[in-house]
Amino acid sequence: MDIRRVILIQPYRDGRLLGKARGAPYTLMRLASLIPDEIPVEIWDENLEPIKYDGIGPNDLIGITSMTFTIDRAAIIAREMRRRGATVVIGGTHATLMPEHCAEFADVVSVGEGYRTWVQIINDFANDTLKPLYRDEAWSSLQGVATITDRAMRIVNEHRDYWTPFMEITRGCPRDCDFCTAIRVSGRIMRHRPIDEVIDEIERRGIRRFGVTDDNFGLNFRTAPEYLEELFKRMEKLPLQSWNAQGEQIVANYPDLLKLARKAHLDKIFIGFESINPDNKSSLGGKTKAHAQQIREVVRKIHAAGVGVVGLFVTGFDHDTPESYQAMWEFLRDSELDGVSLTVLTPFPGTPFREQIVDEGRLLDVPWSYYDTAHITYRPKLMTVDEMHKHYSWLVRKVYSPWQIARRGLSSLRRYPITVSHRKAFGSFSTDYGFRKTYVDGYF
Ligand code: SF4
Repeated sequence: MDIRRVILIQPYRDGRLLGKARGAPYTLMRLASLIPDEIPVEIWDENLEPIKYDGIGPNDLIGITSMTFTIDRAAIIAREMRRRGATVVIGGTHATLMPEHCAEFADVVSVGEGYRTWVQIINDFANDTLKPLYRDEAWSSLQGVATITDRAMRIVNEHRDYWTPFMEITRGCPRDCDFCTAIRVSGRIMRHRPIDEVIDEIERRGIRRFGVTDDNFGLNFRTAPEYLEELFKRMEKLPLQSWNAQGEQIVANYPDLLKLARKAHLDKIFIGFESINPDNKSSLGGKTKAHAQQIREVVRKIHAAGVGVVGLFVTGFDHDTPESYQAMWEFLRDSELDGVSLTVLTPFPGTPFREQIVDEGRLLDVPWSYYDTAHITYRPKLMTVDEMHKHYSWLVRKVYSPWQIARRGLSSLRRYPITVSHRKAFGSFSTDYGFRKTYVDGYF
């Protein structure tokens, strides 16, 4: 089969916000970089433009990446493409967690990271030897993996079209929180990209601000301090404005590394506190449970290094009751956090939490689009679905009220010297504004 072109597609998620899409299609840029130069490649992001089916034909290889909550949209695109004779490969989180579901509407399912099987898929397409399933779960070294090419950087205009370019530095998480997909999608061994490659990629892409995609970058403060020290010293010299990463509360125990991170332009760290209800500890895979007083202390220590803290909280654990929402509000209403993410616990495929929910007959029959962490997809243990919906919607309206967003944004802005505060104004409010769009405006 002669390959006319490869088209990589990101299905619709939330469209444009003030003219730009939220996050650049970073994984697709890296997959595009693996395609030999002689094969034309295009990246279509449905958040920017509608899919154009005209002209699709049998010599086109279509790669669609999808999370669970966009999989229904991915299936529609896949079926339309196949109707026109194209061959469709589905990859990404949902394909990894539920390959048998994706096999219902794709020619090929790519399970796992895909960086090592994608080239094989292209070759097999050219040789008419495609198989229905490819697995890339070796969790091997990240050295030299899918280095972004100049062609991929030309195809995606990260600066013009997106609010947030992404960057991968490490991958994997050894924790096993029972609701999280990280172990199944990224592996339980924490792997590190060579620092030279990280620096080279930032420089070549010319990005000044970015979000780190790593599930638990912060764990490296304890497990790989030498790596971080060298990384931060190298990043300090780059002309960066700011970057953000996810972590856990243990980062607060490393003030010297935090100060280096701040000098390296780390602006905010997103900390998975998950729950202030100590009875939910068993779901947290060995992470330190979060008491309200302990969170205040963690925030104070991280702030002392000049780094902001966005608190990530999950609601709807088995020990949560209507009173838990009131307690959460009493904690958050005057907390020093720079931003707050309040999600609904979600039984993602492949997780122990989903197995438990299925065994107990508590899974709700809802579309996959409900798996966006803003909808209720299971019957909670100590509340009815209606009660949980009522209390969650009450809480997000309180937490993302204009006043609360302004309060946190202004207090965040105070971390900066007055001379640079005008440059930091947007970033100080945009995180919470984005959460409001998802958890209040997008749902209710
Ligand atoms: S620590 Fe974070 S990334 Fe790791 S398993 Fe738990 S929730 Fe997932």
